[in-house]
Amino acid sequence: MTYDVVIVGASFAGLTLAHHLPKDLRVLLVDIKPEPGSTVESTGLITTKTYLEFKSFLDIDHYITNPISAICVVAPSFDDYFVSSVAEPWIYQTDTKALVKAMAETVPANVEIRMKTAFLGLVEGDTTKIRIRSNSSAEEVIETKVLIGADGSHSKVAAEIPELSQNDRFLFGYEQVFFGSVNLDERPAETIYHFWFGEFSLGYGGWLSPTIIDGRPAFRVGLAKLEKDRAQAKELTQEFVELLLNKKIISIEGAVEKPGYIFGSLIPINGVRKHLTYKNTLLIGDAAGFCGAFAADGIKGAVVSGKESAKLVEQFLAGDRQALSLLPQAMNQHGGLIKYYAKQMKYRWIWDRMKSNRTFTAMYSIIKAERATFLNQFCDSKDKHQSLAWTVLKFKYLPKLIKYSCFIMLDFFKRS
Ligand SMILES: Cc1cc2nc3c(=O)[nH]c(=O)nc-3n(C[C@H](O)[C@H](O)[C@H](O)COP(=O)(O)OP(=O)(O)OC[C@H]3O[C@@H](n4cnc5c(N)ncnc54)[C@H](O)[C@@H]3O)c2cc1C
Repeated sequence: MTYDVVIVGASFAGLTLAHHLPKDLRVLLVDIKPEPGSTVESTGLITTKTYLEFKSFLDIDHYITNPISAICVVAPSFDDYFVSSVAEPWIYQTDTKALVKAMAETVPANVEIRMKTAFLGLVEGDTTKIRIRSNSSAEEVIETKVLIGADGSHSKVAAEIPELSQNDRFLFGYEQVFFGSVNLDERPAETIYHFWFGEFSLGYGGWLSPTIIDGRPAFRVGLAKLEKDRAQAKELTQEFVELLLNKKIISIEGAVEKPGYIFGSLIPINGVRKHLTYKNTLLIGDAAGFCGAFAADGIKGAVVSGKESAKLVEQFLAGDRQALSLLPQAMNQHGGLIKYYAKQMKYRWIWDRMKSNRTFTAMYSIIKAERATFLNQFCDSKDKHQSLAWTVLKFKYLPKLIKYSCFIMLDFFKRS
């Protein structure tokens, strides 16, 4: 059996690509999960730009549970917080499972989706012959002109082809979803909450995102740690939820031990990978490292790389053997997306140097003073790829910056 394109991974990247490939190609999309969207390892927050990218091929409004126009940052000690807002929504909370399911249900007729099917590897290193296995059936060999690895941060496609680069640095994100309400500040449904408890969750911090599930108020609560500390993620999330309950920041309907949905997964934080293509193969989405190393936002990179790679695959099949190597340039046309990932690596470097609550508190106090314009600048940094550094690097903050730098230096001697 010969296909023009085989895509491994039916999530944001693989499904976007499937929607955009020419309709006369024979396309096979395989995924190990039981159903599209049966589990989606993502909070599912998308920026305005990503919203518009989706809108061009899907009725995305149907899968938005609440538009968000404010951010609430909570200090490490939990005794202080500030809210910064903008006039229009800056991100949107999506119903992730329904969104991915809809993406799969609306693929064009030339795309065959096989779920419960794992990509196993190549036949003797030949990138045109791949081995797959569907549940309870024997291993099969499939021939393809193009092979796409859209199989996430721990890509098996990248692992099986030594000429392709693999991700090698990760955060481990862990999230629980509860029915209930968020009680901090006035407009929870329009707010995303970020918790800066440095020592509690080194690497990223915690989040709380109000949403609606089956017409009932709910929220997503999670934290991310550096991969080496992943064993603590579940326990710390439970501690975090208890803390939020005790402080009456959240109230849960039902038992706290029984969240509606739990997941954990790896988030690549090593920047865009060097070798994304080899012969007829290409990595896209998380597999390619298209994820903000600081903000851990990968849905935009998945959708944009899905769209852009569709054009390049068409050129490749028309005889341009170099076409697949043009993906980073094509992505950079989207407001400098590749430059955004490079900048995110710098923010990651600084964040990783911060190891104590007092350092996070020192930075928090500068950002809090900027709260009137903070979110505006933060939105720009995400969608227009401007620098976040100018939010804090101001002459009036010199004493605070000196204090912050001293704490960073002291953190150097602190074991994480
Ligand atoms: C806790 C958490 C919260 C996050 N929140 C956000 C957020 O709010 N906003 C945002 O922009 N980003 C967020 N991210 C990142 C975002 O979810 C990812 O960047 C995005 O899902 C990447 O999409 P993808 O299609 O490249 O890969 P994935 O969504 O990881 O999909 C990969 C697919 O490949 C399949 N697969 C893997 N191996 C095989 C195999 N061998 N054979 C067959 N199929 C295989 C998997 O089953 C999966 O369906 C979050 C990540 C985590 C972990």
